Amino acid sequence: MSDQKKTLFEKIIDRELPGTIVHEDEHCVAFRDVNPGAPIHILLVPRKPIPRLCDATPEDQPLLGHLMLTANRIAEAEGVGEAFRLVVNNGAEAGQSVFHLHLHIIGGRALSWPPG
Ligand code: AMP
Repeated sequence: MSDQKKTLFEKIIDRELPGTIVHEDEHCVAFRDVNPGAPIHILLVPRKPIPRLCDATPEDQPLLGHLMLTANRIAEAEGVGEAFRLVVNNGAEAGQSVFHLHLHIIGGRALSWPPG
């Protein structure tokens, strides 16, 4: 893919932009959010640049399952495996600002509900 068309997160995955990577495997990469909303705030990003969750297709089902199970492993490794939140903002009106699907893994403090 040409550099111009890469998403911000692809550039982090490809080490063209800095990021504090905490996990990577053949399907996904996780790095710390640059503007954390909690002591633990990690972004888990598939290597495949699906723009939004609603753009995922049935062929992405194994990948989506892999992301959920990998989030478990990362939360556990970060010491918050018993209490963490996963967030996917889908669409600008829902707060999505980077259009490359990502799971926010948030923990390390009490989390209120409902979210804003
Ligand atoms: P969202 O608003 O759901 O699309 O989430 C995008 C997230 O990416 C936000 O929480 C930002 O703080 C985070 N973010 C933006 N730029 C970077 C970056 N260069 N490195 C790490 N996280 C970033």
